[in-house]
Amino acid sequence: MKIKNSNIGYPRIGENREWKRVLELFWSDQINEEQFNNEMVKIRLSHLEKQQEKGIDLIPIGDFSYYDQVLDTAVMFGLIPERFKNEVQNVTLKTYFEIARGSKGKVAAEMTKWFNTNYHYIVPELEHAKPRLLENRILSLFQEAKEKLGINGKPVILGPITLLSLSKGYNEQQKAELLHSLIPLYLEVFNQLKDAGAKWIQIDEPILVKNVEKDLINEFKEVYTVFHEGLKDVNIILQTYFEKIEFYEEIIQLPVQGIGLDFVHDDGGNLEQIKKHGFPSDKVLFAGVIDGRNIWKANLVEKSTLLSTLTEFIDEERLFIQPSCSLLHVPVTVKNEHYLDTQVKNGLSFADEKLEEVVLLTNFVNKKISVTELDQHDHSIRSLKNSAHRNVKDVKEKLKNLKSFSATRIDAAERKELHENRWNLPILPTTTIGSFPQTKEVRSQRLKWRKGELSNDQYEEYIKKEIKKWIEIQEELGLDVLVHGEFERTDMVEFFGEKLEGVAITKFGWVQSYGSRCVKPPVIFGDVYCLENMTVKETVYAQSLTKKPVKGMLTGPVTIVNWSFVRDDISRVDVLNQVALAIRKEVEALEENGITMIQVDEAALREGLPLKEEKTEDYLNAAVYAFKLATSSVNDDTQIHTHMCYSNFDDIIHAIDALDADVISIETSRSHGELITSFEQHHYNKGIGLGVYDIHSPRVPTLEELSQNIKRALEVLDYRAFWVNPDCGLKTRGEVETVEAIKVMVKAAQIYREKL
Ligand code: GLN
Ligand code: ZN
Repeated sequence: MKIKNSNIGYPRIGENREWKRVLELFWSDQINEEQFNNEMVKIRLSHLEKQQEKGIDLIPIGDFSYYDQVLDTAVMFGLIPERFKNEVQNVTLKTYFEIARGSKGKVAAEMTKWFNTNYHYIVPELEHAKPRLLENRILSLFQEAKEKLGINGKPVILGPITLLSLSKGYNEQQKAELLHSLIPLYLEVFNQLKDAGAKWIQIDEPILVKNVEKDLINEFKEVYTVFHEGLKDVNIILQTYFEKIEFYEEIIQLPVQGIGLDFVHDDGGNLEQIKKHGFPSDKVLFAGVIDGRNIWKANLVEKSTLLSTLTEFIDEERLFIQPSCSLLHVPVTVKNEHYLDTQVKNGLSFADEKLEEVVLLTNFVNKKISVTELDQHDHSIRSLKNSAHRNVKDVKEKLKNLKSFSATRIDAAERKELHENRWNLPILPTTTIGSFPQTKEVRSQRLKWRKGELSNDQYEEYIKKEIKKWIEIQEELGLDVLVHGEFERTDMVEFFGEKLEGVAITKFGWVQSYGSRCVKPPVIFGDVYCLENMTVKETVYAQSLTKKPVKGMLTGPVTIVNWSFVRDDISRVDVLNQVALAIRKEVEALEENGITMIQVDEAALREGLPLKEEKTEDYLNAAVYAFKLATSSVNDDTQIHTHMCYSNFDDIIHAIDALDADVISIETSRSHGELITSFEQHHYNKGIGLGVYDIHSPRVPTLEELSQNIKRALEVLDYRAFWVNPDCGLKTRGEVETVEAIKVMVKAAQIYREKL
């Protein structure tokens, strides 16, 4: 017997985001349902074919989706929100998309982060849910793969316990009932798959890597025992990923045939458990050894050592090699990246290349290739590691002497006084979060410039024109603190990625974020520093046009790192501090050039929270330190702002406070003022920018709504703490609605000023 391999999931979007295109054509009625289906079949089959050609033994089926795998599972079992139910009780393609995207009069289902990734899933709503099997979609996909490509695939499905854990709208008792009604439905799906010839079925239960309670493990025992008893001649894989599992000893005793563990993002925890407690001799281990979350080539010699350690505990014929998680979280292929530095490009491995690594490793263990071949593969990693990019003396030096950079300021209360004297702003000062509408024209000018149809000078002139226009609008609107509008930026992270040394922007490195929306995370491949000022020119120009203060606008180190692919040859904290030092330099440059209110956005601070509670503190400490490193070298009378788009601060309020930003702007409008309470309870003593209206909708808010939002906050904290602003940047809004909305906002602030 030989060692085999497997894949957990493959990206849906396609090499050129063709999946996205088909979806959007359908949504905008440019193709009909039949054309849509035909196109999707082509895409789906081509992905399967690719995996087959690469030599993957167990190819996942059912991971392909038209939107999201959680939604697929929910819909399959009839778990659809009340408002989308109809008399016929089936879910058409139209309804499926309506649940995800909303429709006239019906709000879309909520969407939230998939564990600690930047992928977002649709949250199932289980009020009044009566589970029933609507359609075994995996069965048809399984048959399709078999008939069209002769692939005997591995059906993949989200397991019932994780599905329920990720859903909302039920209490403990209902949960038990739901689970009991789901079990026979899952069994039916499995048995149909078995009858169609499936040998292995992968059940994803990533909930097992969170800090789960013993009760949940009992649920696992119950559910998987019923599965076991109701199934014959088909093997179940209990698949986990993203971290080490909890309750290892109990989990390995579950009556399943295979267990999938992540050996990349577990900090060695899964291996440690195997060493300590062994692995049952009647089970198969699906070893996730190739990193499914990051984009670097694997060090295969090292991986082969890991595998040989595993074979001390598990027979080779009971081992499958696979990526650590679904490859959904990495781009499709490096092959089309023609503009990257070769050393960097050679060090990269996206989904397709990762599958090749899985196969290489399999062939090596099966003695089909020699260690020299593995070593050849690893050569490019060594070359990148030893490259000038990763060995910038000055950066390394600074990192070694971090202590010589101060990361503290004088007391916030003292600063507040200085700031009040300096600017003499009215109470409840009004401002915005940074960006103004990126109209079609703004985007088309940038495109022309990128294509070389517009010279640098012409493009710069255009940007200046927009800045000037919006400085005038802001003055007219009566805002107290202005911004330049961010017209030169595509995206708050990509913009800095383009400017920073040691960071690359790929051409096709897209990853699905939610639905058809894809993001292209920058690649932090080397030591990070910046050679030239990144934002000074535009900001200083804006300031030259007005007597009112213009806020400088930067993206913070934590957000840049959390929204990038990060090199893994040094610690993440080191990367974070490198980025922080680069931002610090920019903060200083702005200050030197007369910009003394500077906002450093940390939209993704919360997103980086680790899955395990025991890691939270280290993460927050590192994040706080990096932010302070970036922002604390300014003069006492310079004002540092930060911005976070969400409203949920309860568990991280101590860290938010520790950032020591003079003003933090947050989302208030959709959270009905609850968040202010966490600031109150924490005796927060710095400025808070109230995000008084929701920028995610084109609707112009009414004066009453805004007043309500201000009023609620004033009831809780001293009015002198507050600023008034929209809840996020305005770049996705139209010009007219933006002006109208700000008008109302300024008015609301004025009314309260008079009252106070
Ligand atoms: N300054 C950024 C903007 O206004 C902030 C964006 C964000 O928080 N997502 O666009
Ligand atoms: Zn925001």
